[in-house]
Amino acid sequence: MDRLTPSRAYLDQINSQVEADIAATEELSYPDPDYPEQPKLWQRVAAAAESYQDDLVALSLDLHAHPEVAFEEHRSAAAIAELLEQHGVSVTRQAFGVETALHASWATTDFDPQLHPTIAVLSEYDALPGIGHACGHNVIAACGVGGFISALEALKNAEIPGRLVFLGTPAEEGHSGKEYLIRGGAFEGVDAAIMIHPFSYDIGSHVWVGRRNLSVTFRGVAAHASSEPFMGRNALDAATLAYQGLGLLRQQMPHSDRLHAIIDDGGERASIIPESASMSIYVRSLYTDTLLDLSSRVDDIIEGAALMAGVTVEKKWDVHPATLPVRNNETLVARWTRTQVEQGRQPLPAGIIPATLAASTDFGNVSQLVPGLHPMVKIAPVGVALHTEGMERAAASEEAATAIVHSAAGLGQVAIDALADPTLLARAREEFAAEGGVVRSADLFGA
Ligand SMILES: [Zn+2]
Ligand SMILES: [Zn+2]
Repeated sequence: MDRLTPSRAYLDQINSQVEADIAATEELSYPDPDYPEQPKLWQRVAAAAESYQDDLVALSLDLHAHPEVAFEEHRSAAAIAELLEQHGVSVTRQAFGVETALHASWATTDFDPQLHPTIAVLSEYDALPGIGHACGHNVIAACGVGGFISALEALKNAEIPGRLVFLGTPAEEGHSGKEYLIRGGAFEGVDAAIMIHPFSYDIGSHVWVGRRNLSVTFRGVAAHASSEPFMGRNALDAATLAYQGLGLLRQQMPHSDRLHAIIDDGGERASIIPESASMSIYVRSLYTDTLLDLSSRVDDIIEGAALMAGVTVEKKWDVHPATLPVRNNETLVARWTRTQVEQGRQPLPAGIIPATLAASTDFGNVSQLVPGLHPMVKIAPVGVALHTEGMERAAASEEAATAIVHSAAGLGQVAIDALADPTLLARAREEFAAEGGVVRSADLFGA
């Protein structure tokens, strides 16, 4: 085998286990005790979503053809705002102090924030550098817009008091745009937040780990590496020791922890003892407590490396705000699942897709603030991973076009149920409180 081709053995094991687990589950169960029969409203949402398909798919393809990276999504945000406006929605641009964020809100005339719920539907739209929409955020954008306007259409004359909010949330990739929106007040008064993410499976409840970032600069003393090395203090030695230390720590880490590190800068020339060296480190974990634990071990390793090399060190945690693990609200997941079964889909429950395949998202911060729904929607053949060329192609596929209608309907239906069915929101809130209530990234890790 070519030495540059990683073995697929482990991935194949995972995939065949997933297949076996799906086959062994005769009928996937989705407990939803208070599921109300609201065929009329649901039908209205689904019909609206279908009637908007051309507009929504055109938006998705337009964003796909003009990918913009985090915080530079000016064209994408404008396209989304224009489509909403074409459907009679007035949109606030540069919302909550974020240049490429969007906000729209619709409420019944008798809406009272003390009495009636507010549900937020979220759209992402940033792309990845170099590889375009390989995370399919163009699809997320279309689904969020579709969910919002489909729910609005169905709510006409329905006499359900409440408020629906649309949030355009930029800068998910490598950043944490939603945390800036949280700090800007975007979720004040919001009772639940819902969105979808594309993938190669339909999944109701997927694992997303929390993530912190750390920038490290070691500073030593430059010296001629041949004639006077004894007059130097080698900053690259510290970076090397830190890199080794992180590597050794990995054996003792729980499976659900992750550490990634690169050395950004390791000196100028081999003939000069490096005066400075810098590293970029990502720390990820499944729980906020374990994320803090792992962070403190990393701190010790960096300090220890600096001490061994006789250099100073400057650490900057969370240059971009940390993202928290996603807390999937299973009450909302169950209702979402019902909407998708109606569309002939079968979202997998938690636990079938292994947590090994977990990444991070800034929706984690939202989901720890209010009950949150973040299911995965199949747009690609099984085995196609996020952030690959295959997923980039899938994000403009026929399968994605169909998924957009199904997801827009599902988001609209969950939003309507959350407004119309007080027991659903009450159970979602109860579950949220039982899982620890509000946790703010800024409180845990600082601003
Ligand atoms: Zn991504
Ligand atoms: Zn993504």
